[in-house]
Amino acid sequence: MKPRRWLVYGVTGLALLALIAWTMRERISLEIASRVASARLNIDGVSELPDGLHVRVCGAGSPFPDERRLGPCTVVVAGTRLMVFDAGTGVRNLTRMGISPGRVDAILLTHFHSDHIDGLGELLLQRWVSGGPAQPVPLHGPPGVEQVAAGLMQAYQHDRGYRIAHHGESVLPPHGFGADVRPFALGETGRTVIINEGELEVVAFAVDHSPVHPSVGYRIRYKGRTMVLSGDTKLSAAVQREAKGVDLLVHEALSPRLVGLLTDAAKASGKGRMAKLFTDIVDYHATPEEAADTAREAGVRYLLLNHIVPALPPLPGLEEAFLGDAPRRFSGTLRLARDGDALSLPAGSTAIQTRHRF
Ligand SMILES: [Zn+2]
Ligand SMILES: [Zn+2]
Repeated sequence: MKPRRWLVYGVTGLALLALIAWTMRERISLEIASRVASARLNIDGVSELPDGLHVRVCGAGSPFPDERRLGPCTVVVAGTRLMVFDAGTGVRNLTRMGISPGRVDAILLTHFHSDHIDGLGELLLQRWVSGGPAQPVPLHGPPGVEQVAAGLMQAYQHDRGYRIAHHGESVLPPHGFGADVRPFALGETGRTVIINEGELEVVAFAVDHSPVHPSVGYRIRYKGRTMVLSGDTKLSAAVQREAKGVDLLVHEALSPRLVGLLTDAAKASGKGRMAKLFTDIVDYHATPEEAADTAREAGVRYLLLNHIVPALPPLPGLEEAFLGDAPRRFSGTLRLARDGDALSLPAGSTAIQTRHRF
């Protein structure tokens, strides 16, 4: 048989296969959707972890819409305890990361800017409907957290009623909904221990996000592994002090150069109000270079930048432009966080493993 005839047979075969796949596309998609749903329900991204300190980035972004970074949300697993730090829109990534909201043992807020709490009501609701413990989840935060929680509880009151009426109290115990609110004061030292349970210690400390008072960062220690979350702050001596010698520093970062482009664009479009807002936000955040300086001076091993401002569309070289001089100022591992990032600090080790998983 001539090669040309084989070519005709091959092309015809492929066309037939494509036609069959197209005809059956609905069945194929339903089968895939069914498998994905099953996998989502059965994946447990927590109990498979080795003993240690683990970080899951559920939201690496800020108020700026960024397709790879939802609003601030960081999961920290310490042994069997699962804590969520800040509850921005990134809380919607929990199930994508194989983490059931029903597994959340505690929520800790850094401050009450809207991007840090606009997923909180949803997280409380999802924890309840996902079969979490029948008690409300402990919600830690600086003074003011009571108002935030009370307002959300009021806003979700109708929804709570609908769901209990629809599914029944045996499925959704009414007293399981909501938060066990635990405000903390920082005192004169500017720091306080929030959780102290055997091998796990969580400390809150004041940072500088003026005029936002109070605004805190957190230091977490578990079985000799340590990390600091800066929260929202400009260059802060407190972050540097608390981060002294820790394994991992998760620090916010804003690029004045890239925000400057937005300011210029707003001015050119006659949007003076937006230009003023863009100009103002620069003074209460830290630059990537300042985060790098903090990490270097504190002697940390790994710097993860989060709360990325502004949004970074996936353009070649844009992340490098964002980082600026930071890679030259910090010689440890430096990473720009994206939703889905997974860092593991196993107990009894000095290793820090990084993966990206969704
Ligand atoms: Zn923020
Ligand atoms: Zn803020």
